[in-house]
Amino acid sequence: MDKRTFLKISALTTAGLVVSPLTACKNEGEEKKADTGAAKAFELPALAYAFNALEPNIDARTMEIHHDKHHAGYVRKLNAAVEGSKYAGMELGAIMAGITDSDADTAVRNNGGGHYNHSLFWRTIGPKGGNPEGKLADAINSAFGSFEDFKSKFSSEAKGVFGSGWAWLCAGADQKLFITSTPNQDNPLMTNIAEQAGSPILGIDVWEHAYYLNYKNMRGDYINNFFNIINWEEVAANYDKIG
Ligand code: MN
Repeated sequence: MDKRTFLKISALTTAGLVVSPLTACKNEGEEKKADTGAAKAFELPALAYAFNALEPNIDARTMEIHHDKHHAGYVRKLNAAVEGSKYAGMELGAIMAGITDSDADTAVRNNGGGHYNHSLFWRTIGPKGGNPEGKLADAINSAFGSFEDFKSKFSSEAKGVFGSGWAWLCAGADQKLFITSTPNQDNPLMTNIAEQAGSPILGIDVWEHAYYLNYKNMRGDYINNFFNIINWEEVAANYDKIG
């Protein structure tokens, strides 16, 4: 395993995005079964806040459908797609790093990306809001000039996604921050696919399912209001885990 892949997997593991045999099991008997090589199932993570906690920025019904239906669907289909494939038993970070654009990888790419991306998304938004501080604030200022410049560039990237996809704040192996976007459920951990690979520390979902019930076609308003609900402590924690 090269250093880059190792760092990514480490970041995912510490971010709680990898299902370990321990968390996948309910008792010691099942734990032993997992230790002998039984397949690990990916699981839908619970939200740390109520569906209505982000109102009026994101409405409760959108959150409920997005988490309980869309994300749950990615998890279910990911588990089905990895079963019997070369990705069976692998951790999510390793899967992301190995994904290629071959047809054989399509289901794992779409649903593995969907699971990773949404797991990060739920954790990096929340009702508290605020602004970045400390080391992360310094890194943002260093990379983009100021927090306002960062917001402007991140918004532009998100608004510029054609169709469904994500905009990301990422760190490279050198810890320098950059902004990029990916189509569909791709993400910057997919080094074989992403235009600019790196470790995402914040992402905005600009699929219509993320905002359409409330915002209709007004994607720009959703993106502007997204800045009210970023959990900067979590983004900073993600940043601290890199490098
Ligand atoms: Mn989504």
